[in-house]
Amino acid sequence: MIRFILFITLLTSLVFGSRAEEYYWEKGETFLIFLEKNSLPFSLYYNLDAEDKEAVAEIYAGTKYYVLRGDEDDIRQILIPVGGGELQLHIYKEKDNNFTACFTPAAYQESDKELVFELQISPYQDIMTITNSTLLAREFVNSFQGNVDFKRLRQGTNFVLLYREKTRLGSHFSNPLIKAAMVETGGKKEYVFFYEPKGRYYNNDGKEIEGFFLMTPLKFTRISSPFTLKRWHPILKKYQAHYGIDYAAPMGTPVKAAGDGRVTFVGTQNGYGKTVKIAHEGGYSTLYAHLNGFAKSLKSGKYVKKGELIAYVGNTGVSTGPHLHLGLYKNNQPINPSSVIKVAKSALTGKEKADFNEYANIMREKISEAQANKSSPDINGSFVYVVDIAGNTV
Ligand SMILES: [Zn+2]
Repeated sequence: MIRFILFITLLTSLVFGSRAEEYYWEKGETFLIFLEKNSLPFSLYYNLDAEDKEAVAEIYAGTKYYVLRGDEDDIRQILIPVGGGELQLHIYKEKDNNFTACFTPAAYQESDKELVFELQISPYQDIMTITNSTLLAREFVNSFQGNVDFKRLRQGTNFVLLYREKTRLGSHFSNPLIKAAMVETGGKKEYVFFYEPKGRYYNNDGKEIEGFFLMTPLKFTRISSPFTLKRWHPILKKYQAHYGIDYAAPMGTPVKAAGDGRVTFVGTQNGYGKTVKIAHEGGYSTLYAHLNGFAKSLKSGKYVKKGELIAYVGNTGVSTGPHLHLGLYKNNQPINPSSVIKVAKSALTGKEKADFNEYANIMREKISEAQANKSSPDINGSFVYVVDIAGNTV
């Protein structure tokens, strides 16, 4: 409860712009360097359990964080968004002047929005111009991959997007979720629907959209820890996160690239031990951690094929036994690898198909409504209309 009150105090001071200062996490800065820089005790790191130590390795360069100081310029509280920002590391001074660190959920606003527009330049460019969100533009283009050839669309093609977006202190935060979208060209309507139980996009007929697929990167004995973005642990009474899947496997088991891509990191990362990172198409990247060693000739900048040997299972970094930690990121935000790791695309059948059809019907209706409600042309003469669910034009 005290933690909660402190949290509110800090938020309030943020809103009123008092003594909370903004900083950006520096490139190459580890949590220990951060503690040293701010004369904070190393025990704040060493007292964390293994999962939490891994989580603090997910503070990215450029992350904006906040420091609240007392009258003597002493640090009272620090809030650092972790792993894309669903959780934040909260460091605060207790009454006895000792510091405590724990994870708290980040405060943000979530709103459902409708975007209706006519093609001017390209879907990507137009969405960028209207919403100022590269993440939304990118997600939209990815969602239709292989279904509609955007290069062949004419000016005046109609677009409708129903999406959910998170904002914090006025800025976009985390990947937007496109719930449904429609492109109408030559009287023909093409749809995509994000079907949440499957975590993927489907077309009008319930067929999965060709998207990005990964293979499981190793032969494993069991999944020792699943992906968790934010979870309240009822026994430990604290928030936890695990930004990847842990695969238990014997020491030395070959680890393969989960997809084609370019190696962006080979080395040691705080908490993760020996680590490889690969950048893939569509803003995806994978991270392989706790490795024992790397494949010969593997280095940053090298292109690898799906299934190519990159490393061997180990127990380096914060690890309690030989396993591979596989992280998957979309636009640098950790996402659950399980919807992306599969052999081939699949079609929905039976009850799943029936549920999907019901969902798609509702979404198609909402899209028609959004289209019917579109406002008068904006200054450029195109129909642009963004509303949130409360019906306020934004
Ligand atoms: Zn892990």
